[in-house]
Amino acid sequence: MSSPRIGVLAVQGAFAEHAARLRNLGCSVVELRQQDDVRQHLDGLVLPGGESTAQTKLLRDLGMMEPLRQLIQEGLPTLGTCAGLILLAENVESTGDGRVPGGTVAAADLVDAGEPDGDTIGFACSALGDQRRPDPVVGFRTLPVTVRRNGYGRQLGSFTATAPLHVKHADGVSRGANNTSEETAAEDPIIPLTFIRAPRIIATAPKVETLVQLNGEPVAVRYRNQIACCFHPELDADNAIYQLLLSL
Ligand code: GLN
Repeated sequence: MSSPRIGVLAVQGAFAEHAARLRNLGCSVVELRQQDDVRQHLDGLVLPGGESTAQTKLLRDLGMMEPLRQLIQEGLPTLGTCAGLILLAENVESTGDGRVPGGTVAAADLVDAGEPDGDTIGFACSALGDQRRPDPVVGFRTLPVTVRRNGYGRQLGSFTATAPLHVKHADGVSRGANNTSEETAAEDPIIPLTFIRAPRIIATAPKVETLVQLNGEPVAVRYRNQIACCFHPELDADNAIYQLLLSL
């Protein structure tokens, strides 16, 4: 089989590190910098960490938001890390930086982002209730989770940890650890986690699978073709998250 062709969003952030890791794993990497780059055939997509406010603005200005959103919704295997998770999240809360004063956002920005998936609208409303305020980071909104930007703190919010990666098998059976505890199955690999001003996942829709938990909270999740993590797999030697993407 020829090597998988993975598009890495390369408008801002840690795209070079992801590209290098994917090339080492035998992938052919396409750096996505403009709308034309998105028209070629891709087998997968990586959305790197960086600054989600800058990334959403560039995606919109470059006309890449809608074509990429369509590919993700059509099932393109996608990995979003850190700011990439924020781009995928259906709901984003900010804790200060980047928020438009008064919490308002231009109506055009909301239209740009398209409507969330039909089966997740109820989740969006109930998770946020009356507290919902528009946020300047309006990305693809394809992943039914709520994230809080810089949710582990800003200056001192960078840290490392390790935790088991728990993946349901193709037969749908969850072996060993169940998703609501931190029990570890013998076959779950322990992976390194590097957090840098990371978003915190504060709510997930029922269909979202937790892949990695830390202190009882999800820090990596999967929903259909989308994998998203709060941490930076491109900065550690472990390949498990990339292998999971390639297995999709
Ligand atoms: N705090 C950044 C944001 O909100 C994300 C940090 C990262 O990607 N390392 O966009």
